[in-house]
Order: sequence, then C-alpha cells, then structure tokens
Amino acid sequence: MQILTKVTPMTKLRCYLILLTGLIGSTQPVFAAAQINDPHNDTGQTLLYNGVVLVLDEDNTQTQAIVIADDKVIAVGDNSLRAQYPNAKMIDLNGQTLMPGFIDTHVHISGKAQRYIDLTKVSSIAEIQKLIREKAAQLPPGDWITGYGWSEDTLAELRRPLIADLDAAAPNNPIMLTRAGAHSAVFSSEALRLAEIDAQTPDPEGGTIERDDTGALNGIIRERHQEMVGKLIPVASNAELRPSLVQELQNLFPLGITSIVEASNTVDYYSEWQHIYATHRGRLPRAAVQLAYAGDEKMSSFGLKSGDGDTHLRVGAIKIFADGGFTGPAAYTTKPYRGEDEYRGKLNMTEGDLRELIRKAHTQGWQLGIHAIGDAAIELVVAYLSEALEDMPREDHRHYLNHFTIKPSTSAMKTMAANTIAITQQPNFMYTLEGRYTEYLDGERLQTNNPMRSPMNQGIHVAMSSDILPLGPWVGIYAATTRKAMSGAVFGAQEKISRFEALRAYTTLGAYLTREEDIKGQLVPGMLADFVILEDNPLVVPDAKLLNMQTNAVFLGGRQVWSKQP
Ligand SMILES: [Zn+2]
Repeated sequence: MQILTKVTPMTKLRCYLILLTGLIGSTQPVFAAAQINDPHNDTGQTLLYNGVVLVLDEDNTQTQAIVIADDKVIAVGDNSLRAQYPNAKMIDLNGQTLMPGFIDTHVHISGKAQRYIDLTKVSSIAEIQKLIREKAAQLPPGDWITGYGWSEDTLAELRRPLIADLDAAAPNNPIMLTRAGAHSAVFSSEALRLAEIDAQTPDPEGGTIERDDTGALNGIIRERHQEMVGKLIPVASNAELRPSLVQELQNLFPLGITSIVEASNTVDYYSEWQHIYATHRGRLPRAAVQLAYAGDEKMSSFGLKSGDGDTHLRVGAIKIFADGGFTGPAAYTTKPYRGEDEYRGKLNMTEGDLRELIRKAHTQGWQLGIHAIGDAAIELVVAYLSEALEDMPREDHRHYLNHFTIKPSTSAMKTMAANTIAITQQPNFMYTLEGRYTEYLDGERLQTNNPMRSPMNQGIHVAMSSDILPLGPWVGIYAATTRKAMSGAVFGAQEKISRFEALRAYTTLGAYLTREEDIKGQLVPGMLADFVILEDNPLVVPDAKLLNMQTNAVFLGGRQVWSKQP
C-alpha cells in the first residue's frame, strides 16, 4: 500500500494516556519478576525449560529448553540442560511453545494525527458516519477529517461509502477516508471542492476519478488520490505523531512480531525513526525502513545506504511502486481484468522511467524492494532488474519484489531464481481480498493468486509478510497452508506450503531480506534471543486454530518486552 503520511490524530492527552497505558501494560512480566531478576543468580543466564521449542533451523529441530544470556541464545536442547546450567534463572514453560519472533517484512507503521479516525474495525457505513460526526464535533469547522481502513467486504451495506454518505455526516469538513490497502479513497464534496475536482476533471495518469451513471462524482478516486487531494491536508508535526508511532510499534509485540520492515518511508522522516529508536531502544521491534528514492542529490546527502544502522534500526531497501493494487483495481496485468475488453491496470510511471530508476538505484549501491502486484508489472521489473544486474553485476544484492500477487510466467520466475531476486509475499491477501480477486480475476490467475509454492519450487527465496491486511502473521500462515479464503473457498491448492515452510518464511527467510539471517530468525546459539511464547504449537494445531493463535509473551534481545498476563 502507499505511504500514509497524512493520517494523523488523537488529542495529545489521549496519546499520552495511550502511551502510558501501553508502557505499563506492556512491561508487566509474564513470569514473576523474582524469577527473572533473582538476586541470588549472578550468572546472567536464563533457562526456559519444559516447553516445545521450535528452533526453525533447516532440520526443523524441536526440543524442550533454551538458555539465554545477555541478548543472545547460548544453548538449545532438552530438559537435561537444567543439569548443565544449574545456576541459571529457571523459567518453567509448562508446555507452552517457544519459537523465533516473527519478522514481518512488509508493514506500514505511522503515527496518527488528531484528525484521524481508525476505520479498520468498522462494520457499517452508518458506523463510519457516526465516527465522522463525533470527530467533526471535536474539531474546528472546516478542519480536515481523515481515516484509514474501510473495506466494502466488511460493511453491512455491502457497498463502499460514497460522497453522499460523507456529506450527510459532516457537510462542512473536508473528509478523506482511505480504503484498506490505500489504493483508493472516498472524499466529501468539501474535500473535492478544495482540490478543484469536478465532474469535468479528466482522470489523472495512472488513476481514476469515479463517476456514477449520470456522470456525477461519487467521491471515489483510485490510485492518485494522494497527489490529487491528500496533498492538501496539513502535515501533522512529528511531535503530534510521535506518541502514537511509538504505540503502534509496541502494538506489534502482542502479535508476536519482533522485527519489521517498514515498507514505505522517506529520507526526510528517517531521522524521526532514529530519534524514536534512540529514545526507546530495546523496547520496540527491530526495524528496517524502506525509503522512496528522493532524487540523486538528496539520496547522496542522506549519507546512509541500505543496511546502515544497527540491530535495532537500519536503512532498508529503496521502495519503488511499479504498479497499483487490487482494491482499485490498478495492478498491471498481462491480460485484461475479468469482464473487461482492454483494461489491465497501469504502471505507476512510464516503462522508461521505471527502468531508469531501477538502474540508477542499483548502480548507486542501493538494495531494491519493488512493489509489483500484477504479472505484467512483475515481468517488467524482473527484466529491468536482470538487465541492470547483467550490465553492472553486484554480488549478494538482495533485491526483492514486494507482493508478487499474480503469478508471472515460468520463464520470469526462472530469471528471478537465476538472478537471486527474492520476494516478500502476503498470502493473507488471498484470504482478505477474496472479494476483489473473484471480481477482477478469473481462471488460473485467480486460482494461483499470491503464489508461494510455484516461486519456491523455482528456487526463489520467498519471505512472508502481512502488509497490515490484517497486521500479524496468522491469517497469512493459515492462507498459505490451506489456500482457504475468507468464505472458506479453496483457491489453487497446488500453491499450498507446509506449516514449517510458512513459519520459516516468516522468520529466517525474512531476516535474509535485511541481511540479518546470521543473527536472527532461528533459535540457535549465537543468535539474538528474540522469541515468542505461544499458547500452542502452530506445527500441530488444527487449521482453524491458526486464525486464533494467542501470544503469551515476547522476548526481544533476551528481555521480556510483552506478556499477556497482567
Ligand atoms: Zn504495502
């Protein structure tokens, strides 16, 4: 999805309270403090035993106990480790499962401004209208109201919110409500008036201003809404956004996530991440931040490159948006969308510009993490990356594609494998976006949407991530291993992967994308002690349980950073 720079609010007081509650709530140990900070124990070692310890190494080692010291794993084995480390602090896992923390290699985390409404859990347009009315009452007249996360698939009215719905709720406020996935948004009349968009305004390059049967605006703009309207929304200050950004990062722990790749950020905002990580070091998930290419001068004066930083925060790959998404739809496909004669989405830029940008960033030594959803976009990106690699070879470049939603040709996948172009894939889309895919796709490309088995069989490195649809690993693990969508329908069972493969794709294979596979993602001695304690073993529970797997505690660098118990 696209960067959500303009989403922002909460009163300062509310932010403060949430932050405070979050900090208090998230630092309570699941095990008695005395157990962890035993004054009689000066070895600095902690032994967690009597559990199911999933190492997630290549051999799928499963054992009972783990010993940590400082921020690292020092031993893994069965309960006999108790005899070998008699002076370690002892923690009885009571049969719980302990595995490496999840590494979500495609998320979007941003602070929220006072004007912002969270729409990720709304269940009707009426509820959206209620939230708008409440927000309008808190803001001065004429102030912007923004929101993110609605989806017609989960609204009781089974349709999208439209301009009339927004106008009825707050006629005097400009309103922008972005759909889940951020590829489209709905606007109020006041917002479109400020943007000087009317029924005669032509569609922008790569975007669509929707009109109803009578030619009137229905309020929806697909793809270019940020440039057309969103840019008018005043930017919230870093100080206004900071508490909620910290909170959003801490909210990842209960989901079992100990590392992320923030998938679309800017060189300008990176210093704010540095500030936050300097302040909250060790109490936030480890992060790599993907950056948009901001021009030659700015990129060189930035002074940092992909991989620079430390184990807590580092610069990620350059993010390029090759095409759009499926909520539009605007993904660039080789065949027209279902029921369309010609329309097959669009590239976000010309082919020449895409090729040039890839070559330039590659030549300058950046790692590339490129958004490509449609098969036509994927094949073009693979061709341009391969060409750049051929002309200017670079060992161990770690370039990867974000999404890889529509399966490209076998020859494109073979080229990816030959050039070690990796993928971070979101099988949870298969589940969550079922309605969109069945509406816009058909045949094999519908069945094989968000493939994992095919690229893996070709020898491509495939990591898994959530792209916040929804945030967290379990919907993706369920979908990748069952190929079941929200309705229960199975799509392309031949794309199934095993539970073990899915867990690996969400841990060590994710670490590879930030060059950290030697320090995290498996629980072997010498690696960082980043792990989660789960109520049950995800390798053996029934399928349905995967959708409801509970995290009991989270350790980051050997320190407990979250627990379920009060
Ligand atoms: Zn995204």
